[in-house]
Amino acid sequence: MSLPASSSVAEQLAAFERELATAGSLRDAQAVRDRFLGRKNSVVASWMQMIASAPVDQKKLIGRYANELKQQIEARWTAYAEAAEANARPAGAVDVTLPGRVPRLGRRHPLTVVRDRMEGIFTRMGFAIVEGPEIEDEWHCFDALNMPAEHPARDMQDTLYLGAPVRGESGRPDDRRTMLRTHTSSIQIRYMQAHTPPIRIVAPGRVYRRDDLDLTHTPMFTQMEGLVVDEGISLADLKGTLLAFARDMFSERARVRFRPSFFPYTEPSAEVDISCWQCDGRGCAMCKQTGWVEIGGCGMVHPAVFEAVGIDAERYTGFAFGVGIERVAILRHQVQDIRLFFENDLRFLEQFPY
Ligand SMILES: [Zn+2]
Repeated sequence: MSLPASSSVAEQLAAFERELATAGSLRDAQAVRDRFLGRKNSVVASWMQMIASAPVDQKKLIGRYANELKQQIEARWTAYAEAAEANARPAGAVDVTLPGRVPRLGRRHPLTVVRDRMEGIFTRMGFAIVEGPEIEDEWHCFDALNMPAEHPARDMQDTLYLGAPVRGESGRPDDRRTMLRTHTSSIQIRYMQAHTPPIRIVAPGRVYRRDDLDLTHTPMFTQMEGLVVDEGISLADLKGTLLAFARDMFSERARVRFRPSFFPYTEPSAEVDISCWQCDGRGCAMCKQTGWVEIGGCGMVHPAVFEAVGIDAERYTGFAFGVGIERVAILRHQVQDIRLFFENDLRFLEQFPY
């Protein structure tokens, strides 16, 4: 055999392709491969052997041709074998060697997480968690909470009424309309009707107002109501409870401030501020430089409320508070737009590490 020349690699590769193309089966094709690449008596093997007997000045060149031919035939064979394997598989067959699809794991909604956390804090303080109907009647939502018929909150402008009056319970007036509850305070009323003090409950739930949707308002949002009724309950108990909540929820150094306010169902009433945990009260963007952040309302239960549910206001006192769950979530996570909590955009929801 003559020594390989510069054209020999291309010639041998073309010969390999020709023979491969005429192979009738994979076995035939493997035989072609062995004739070109096999360890003994193959084209590549004979080229390798020629290196030893070649003149010194040509050894290097022949070695290069031999390696080039080996690599090119190997590459061509790999492509051929892969194509043959793919063709051998019936159409639509499952390739069991493919990696499996990893299922997308869901996660809890940020409002659920905040609500669970709040429930956990109050449960550890001995509160029971109570729920009530979202469709309420005017008596539980207004009358029993010291908001008589002419009270402005009962206006059609604020409340989503559901239409026809229903027959009243326990001898109350019969002209009560049904509505979507405007606050979770109606749960307090239902609980006090059914239980005698001592009472220590939190009542989380959705509430509905006739509000337009904007950055800070939605027609539906979530509140958590708290109620404690017993002998000798004072404003100090209320403040201590809210302070314990704030320290667990926001910051160990949190302080609580009451600002006088008015609610029909509590007397005295207050707005609840918590010292800003971002700046520790020094003033920052979150607290609008005031050092305080408002989280809800509270007060001592009005005697008229006790009277409505048949609790002796001479013997018992109590406090109530309400905190917006969206409000807490917005403050904890610095969310600028309340609507994000209800749009269910995964790009938003996936940012919460729960
Ligand atoms: Zn601040």
